[in-house]
Amino acid sequence: MKLFRTLIPLREARSIVLRHVGRVGVEEVSFDLAAGRILAEDIVAEMDSPPFNRAAMDGYAVKAEDTLGAAPDKPLVLHRHEPCSGSEPESEELPEGEYIPIQTGMPMPRGSNAVLMLEYGKERDSKLEVFKPVTPGKNVAFKGEDVRRGDIVLNEGRLLRAADIGLLASIGRRHVKVRKKGAIGILSTGDELYDPKVNGSSGGAIADVNSYILAALMSTIAKPSRMGIVSDNYDALKAAIVSCIANCDAILVSGGSSVGKRDFIGDVVADLGEMLFHGVAIRPGEPTGFGIIDEKPIFCLPGYPVSMIAAFEMLVRPFLEAMHGLKEAMMRQVFAVVAKKMPSAVGRTDFVRVRLSHDEHDGEYYVEPIRVSGSGILSSVTSSDGFVIIEENREGIEEGERIVVNLW
Ligand code: AMP
Ligand code: MG
Repeated sequence: MKLFRTLIPLREARSIVLRHVGRVGVEEVSFDLAAGRILAEDIVAEMDSPPFNRAAMDGYAVKAEDTLGAAPDKPLVLHRHEPCSGSEPESEELPEGEYIPIQTGMPMPRGSNAVLMLEYGKERDSKLEVFKPVTPGKNVAFKGEDVRRGDIVLNEGRLLRAADIGLLASIGRRHVKVRKKGAIGILSTGDELYDPKVNGSSGGAIADVNSYILAALMSTIAKPSRMGIVSDNYDALKAAIVSCIANCDAILVSGGSSVGKRDFIGDVVADLGEMLFHGVAIRPGEPTGFGIIDEKPIFCLPGYPVSMIAAFEMLVRPFLEAMHGLKEAMMRQVFAVVAKKMPSAVGRTDFVRVRLSHDEHDGEYYVEPIRVSGSGILSSVTSSDGFVIIEENREGIEEGERIVVNLW
């Protein structure tokens, strides 16, 4: 078995990958379909939100000055304003010494500047006893206090979240420009593999889980296409890649990426295009390669599912983020205190599956590595809360240190 001549540092591998990112185009979608998409424009509010001063409580619209000095044992009395017939409440001018009953969300009548809550007044026969003074602005949501017309409310490159969709609705944006989803082809290679969606387990066959994991890892940001299983055969692999590349913006191949007798992907990429690196100083995930065929990037990922996930997180995810113009990290992160030393070796970047726990007493989050560590043990990932990256210049992370944890 040949060995990789050199393992390049992750940092270098990542910078090579990022030099070959082609940005996807832009499309317009209805605002309600934009959750999870990446915004391709700055959103400028074309109206105020709220669009008018409105009541934030049920009660009585008043002039705050008219309630000065009111107390439970010394209520002040206001008179109900009788609107001219047919006029809208907001077109009324509230005179001194009067009030208008109002519900949450209704426009404040002109001349009023506060809402007295229901429980601080008692209304009888068009008169209101006021038991408590209100200050100007009390229980009023002011025009533009949420969003002001002309403000940039959402920035280009943002991954749109549920509340963002609400914000778009509140300022009347019906359509937004988002990044198109890049078409990413997925191939699995290995004579031993079968598709668990089509066949049952039999003999010595192994379920192709990698293509399903990859599709799931990417589905929010990109458009993954599973292109099937290819046997460990140079010509078959070459044909599959040629047909895949015609229809995709980039390709991810898992399996056959090492340098064994049945590992052909490196040769195929080198023959069809150029292999830019093969072998990265990461663990797990060392047999990871990257090349270009017809200007399209192709990732050669390890066959072991855990190694493949590690390589995806360290190299493919940053690629996809850049490809889609994402300007924030896709994954949520928390700081946590290391509860148990995480060993590593200088010269290699480690991907450590971890569990997170919260200590009720000191309020801290604690993180510790999952003990089972085989690259074939997928349950070591499913039982983890996330992962930690130990940089190549570190000999490990000591107990008590505070580190970033990436959450699934
Ligand atoms: P390879 O990198 O092709 O030598 O594969 C390493 C290990 O990962 C072998 O045990 C393979 O059976 C396994 N493997 C390869 N591809 C897949 C896949 N798509 N799904 C699950 N396991 C795989
Ligand atoms: Mg194989």
